[in-house]
Amino acid sequence: RAKRAGRARYVMFDETLQRAAMDVLELEHELRAALIRNEFEPFFQPLVRLEDGQIVGYEALIRWRHPTRGVLAPGEFLGVAEESGLIEAIDWQMYRLACAAAVGFVRGDEFITLNISPRHFQNEDFDTRLLTMVEASGFEPSRLHIEVTEGTLLGEPDAVARILERLRAAGVEAALDDFGTGYSSLSYVHRFPLKMIKIDRSFIDPLGSDAAQRSSVIIGAILALSHSLGLDVLAEGIETEAQSTHLQRMGCLYGQGYHFGRPQPAAHWGRHALTRA
Ligand code: C2E
Ligand code: MG
Ligand code: MG
Ligand code: MG
Repeated sequence: RAKRAGRARYVMFDETLQRAAMDVLELEHELRAALIRNEFEPFFQPLVRLEDGQIVGYEALIRWRHPTRGVLAPGEFLGVAEESGLIEAIDWQMYRLACAAAVGFVRGDEFITLNISPRHFQNEDFDTRLLTMVEASGFEPSRLHIEVTEGTLLGEPDAVARILERLRAAGVEAALDDFGTGYSSLSYVHRFPLKMIKIDRSFIDPLGSDAAQRSSVIIGAILALSHSLGLDVLAEGIETEAQSTHLQRMGCLYGQGYHFGRPQPAAHWGRHALTRA
């Protein structure tokens, strides 16, 4: 009897699964078409110095101009893109457009950062490909940074370290993204040539609420250890003036978040640059 009940449950579950599998296939199909139609586009969000709000760089964030659903953020498609392997082609399209756009609005010492999916580090020649692409775009490699996650570093640490070393030698610095959400061990971080630690938004959110104390303690520890290792620290997801002030008082030099500016198409920052000049 137990077996029969189990089987019935299995059939129900199976129908849901089947629908989900069809959605995934449909999305995968649409992603392939989107690649051909060049529907991916970089938006740029400013990275600022907290002291005076000065823009120091921009993070390039992928968007999909979907023919019927509007502009989609990565949460809507990145999972399927990664599982299907399409992320590699999608990322290259995005990186190329981001560098080309950056030529038009990045000034002086400003830089742009690209988010690198872990999969790219399975290719030992990722650095060569990236540098070839940047040079072809006309963008200065020393104005390019990349963002990797803790999971990427742990995947194949020696190979990843070699790739990052070669990129650094060419002027491309690396930041550790979403710090605090993964293994969060700064003890292995010193083994990689990193320039910056980005503290995940989940630690910044509670600042200014009753839960501020706990995350303040963690942020303080990340700042102390990062600075002792000679790493810059940027706080992600700053939404209020109070959060910004709090972080600045703690000694955090850089920030990013809706308080300073949302991700916008390159044309927005181009105009901004003109009015600043
Ligand atoms: P991430 O690299 O941690 O990027 C920061 C995310 O936080 C972005 O979400 C940004 O829009 C959002 N954000 C920035 N400030 C605030 C704020 O004040 N409040 C809130 N609530 N959110 C804020 P987005 O653009 O949806 O990107 C999500 C993730 O997708 C990124 O997280 C990154 O991991 C990934 N991603 C983005 N672009 C690319 C890409 O070109 N290639 C790859 N492989 N992954 C990408
Ligand atoms: Mg990022
Ligand atoms: Mg991040
Ligand atoms: Mg994050």
